[in-house]
Amino acid sequence: MAAHPMPPPSPPASPAPPLRIAIIGAGIAGTCLAIGLLEQIPNLDLTVYESHNPSTSSSSSCSSPSSENAPAAPSRGAGLALHGNAIAAMDATSRSIKAAYFRSAHYMAGDADVEMGTSIVVGGGDSGDGTVVAELGRAKGRRTVHRADFIEEMLRDGRVGVRFGMRVVGLEMLEGEKKGGGKGKGKGVRARFANGEARDFDVLLAADGVHSLAREHVLGAYPCHARNTQPVNRDGWRCFNALIPMREAEKALPRRNIDTVRMICTPIGYVNGLPVDRGQTYSLLATHNPRESWQILDHDPAPTYIRGRVALLGDAAHATAPHAGNGAAQAIEDAAVLTGVFAAWASQHHHCGNGEDDGIDAALRAYDSVRRPRSQRVVEITREFGRLYSLDVAERDVQEMQKRLREGGMYTNGVDMGEQVRKAVERFEEERKKGNE
Ligand SMILES: Cc1cc2nc3c(=O)[nH]c(=O)nc-3n(C[C@H](O)[C@H](O)[C@H](O)COP(=O)(O)OP(=O)(O)OC[C@H]3O[C@@H](n4cnc5c(N)ncnc54)[C@H](O)[C@@H]3O)c2cc1C
Repeated sequence: MAAHPMPPPSPPASPAPPLRIAIIGAGIAGTCLAIGLLEQIPNLDLTVYESHNPSTSSSSSCSSPSSENAPAAPSRGAGLALHGNAIAAMDATSRSIKAAYFRSAHYMAGDADVEMGTSIVVGGGDSGDGTVVAELGRAKGRRTVHRADFIEEMLRDGRVGVRFGMRVVGLEMLEGEKKGGGKGKGKGVRARFANGEARDFDVLLAADGVHSLAREHVLGAYPCHARNTQPVNRDGWRCFNALIPMREAEKALPRRNIDTVRMICTPIGYVNGLPVDRGQTYSLLATHNPRESWQILDHDPAPTYIRGRVALLGDAAHATAPHAGNGAAQAIEDAAVLTGVFAAWASQHHHCGNGEDDGIDAALRAYDSVRRPRSQRVVEITREFGRLYSLDVAERDVQEMQKRLREGGMYTNGVDMGEQVRKAVERFEEERKKGNE
């Protein structure tokens, strides 16, 4: 009997193409997310595109990276006091984010062992004048940081590839081809840049801030009344910021005011001071000041954070006023949840690169369903805090104020990040099953 010829060896399976992700914006949201994804997804082609160009912008002269390799952060921005939920979100995204934060931040009162929070102090009139009505984000080792210092420190090791000077000017949904012909929907996105370049990605994660162009793209399909694309200033807030060398501040203010974070509430707005630049500068923020000031903006709730393969995060999704000190914290929570769902995706999928549903749409839907309600509630709580801070003396009820600040602070700060990520991963599994049925 003739022996059967051996079947020819099958050609080695070609490696799955890397998942092409673009992150728009190298602010806190975009940078944290890039670090999380690069750690969790092995086969990844990820670039951050940032419109700011440190080599041509005058604002870069304010920031002085201490190593030649450290790119200057996009713009200086505000001094931040990050609450416990921000720290928990850093832990859930990547330990290296918290390490960068600790290296770039300054201990309130210069002491890691002292427990403290952002003190909300009632001023103006006799009703509880000088009373501390809340200690937001109370914890040991609370720190403050300049936005730019934190971002520079995260980018310092060069792991995250950022293309500066790359302003996105247009987004377009791409349709993927299905096996056996026909078109799938939302299987990619094309980004156009101000320099004329156009690039295609499997996913685009838009962290392009309060004036987000991507927000317009994502919400464009909704009827006008439901869109809420543009930022608003519902309560007429204005803001004025002065950066004072610490030596000068020390001469002018009591010590307890300059090495802690205090918000002094008055009927004409509030004054907020905090140490930044590792304690070298005192950042003074006064609100409702009509002169030399800018508007404080936030967003009315968006009906979705996703469209096709584009997802919004950070201020692009839910810009938040500074009254509760939680906008950056919410941006990092977004990064943690996106990192979690993409890690779940990566553990089960090989990117097929042919437009088939490979679970990415399910991952984005899971992110939207978990993050949208919570982040929008934080925007609402923040508005309420602002109104409480600036009540007329006659209307002020200190006990009621304490109660509402405590409740709001517990919601914003007291989150179980592990639970939030787990919930998103569960949603991802449910969504994926639905997609396969
Ligand atoms: C005065 C003040 C005080 C605050 N204090 C606190 C606080 O104590 N604690 C806290 O948690 N939060 C605080 N916040 C809020 C916090 O600063 C923001 O929520 C946070 O910085 C948002 O980060 P982001 O990365 O989403 O956006 P951004 O920091 O705005 O980053 C967006 C990035 O995208 C880039 N970009 C924009 N458009 C494009 C485009 N078309 N193409 C490419 N790139 C683009 C921008 O250049 C920018 O670098 C404060 C805010 C203010 C205004």
